[in-house]
Amino acid sequence: MIQMSDIYKSFNNIPVLKGISLEVKKSEVLAVIGPSGSGKSTLLRCLNTLETIDGGSIKIKGEYLAKNSDGKAEYADKKTQKHILGQMCMVFQQFNLFPHMTVLENLLEAPLHVKNMKKNEILPVAEELLRKTGLFDKRDAYPSRLSGGQQQRVAIARALCMSPDIMLFDEPTSALDPELTVGVLNTMRQLAEEQMTMIVVTHEMGFARDAASNVIFMADGNIIEKAKPHDFFSNPQEERTKSFLKNML
Ligand code: ATP
Ligand code: MG
Repeated sequence: MIQMSDIYKSFNNIPVLKGISLEVKKSEVLAVIGPSGSGKSTLLRCLNTLETIDGGSIKIKGEYLAKNSDGKAEYADKKTQKHILGQMCMVFQQFNLFPHMTVLENLLEAPLHVKNMKKNEILPVAEELLRKTGLFDKRDAYPSRLSGGQQQRVAIARALCMSPDIMLFDEPTSALDPELTVGVLNTMRQLAEEQMTMIVVTHEMGFARDAASNVIFMADGNIIEKAKPHDFFSNPQEERTKSFLKNML
C-alpha cells in the first residue's frame, strides 16, 4: 500500500529524515513512536505532500508519488499527485474543523466541493459515519460547542467521508484530556478492526500495543527499531528503544 524508500528531508540544511525506508501493507496499522523532534510528523507530512522530500521515493498503491532520480526525488505530475492524495486522509493533533460550519456541514464540505459528489449521494454516508462515531445528535452543532474528544471524532468522521484507503494520524489524542482520549482511541480501534490501513503517530502505548500490527521507534531522523507490538514492548532490542520505553512507563 505504502512504500517509502531511502527518504531524505532537510530543513535549512539540517537533516530531519536521514534515509527512512518503510513499507505499510494493506490493512496494516503502523504505530510510530519516538521522542519529540525525531521526525515523526515530518514523515507523515512528506507522505501527503505537506512537505516535499529531497531524496528517495514514495510509492502509494502502486503509483509513484515521488521517484528517485540520480539521488534526487522527482515528483509525479499534478494529476497523478492529486489521484494519489485523494486516497489518503490525515487527522492532526489540532482538529482543524471549519468553525463556521456545523458538524454535518464539516463532513459534507470536501465530498461536495472537492469530489463534486451529489448531496443525496453523500448525505447518507455522512449520517452513517456520525452514527458510528456517536455524534449523530450533534450534527447541527458548531464545533465550538463540542468537547475536544467530540471535535476530534468529527475530524475523523470528516476524513472518512472522503472514503480514503489510507488514514494518517498525527498524535490525534495529544491535545485531549485523558478521559476524552478514550472515545477517540475507540473510534480508531474500530477503524483498525474494519481493516483500514493506518499510520498512527502516538504517545498512547496502550493503543500501539493492542491495536497496531507493527511499531516503529524513530529517533534523530532514523528508524531505530521495527517490530510486532508484543516483541517491541516486551523485548526491545535497541538501547535507545529501551530507555525511551522506560521513560514512558
Ligand atoms: P513531536 O513529537 O514534538 O511532534 P516530531 O517527531 O513530530 O516531534 P517533527 O515535527 O517531524 O518532529 O520535527 C523534526 C525536526 O524538524 C525538528 O527538529 C523540527 O524543529 C524540524 N522541523 C519540522 N518542521 C520544520 C519546518 N517547517 N521548518 C524548519 N524545521 C522544521
Ligand atoms: Mg510531531
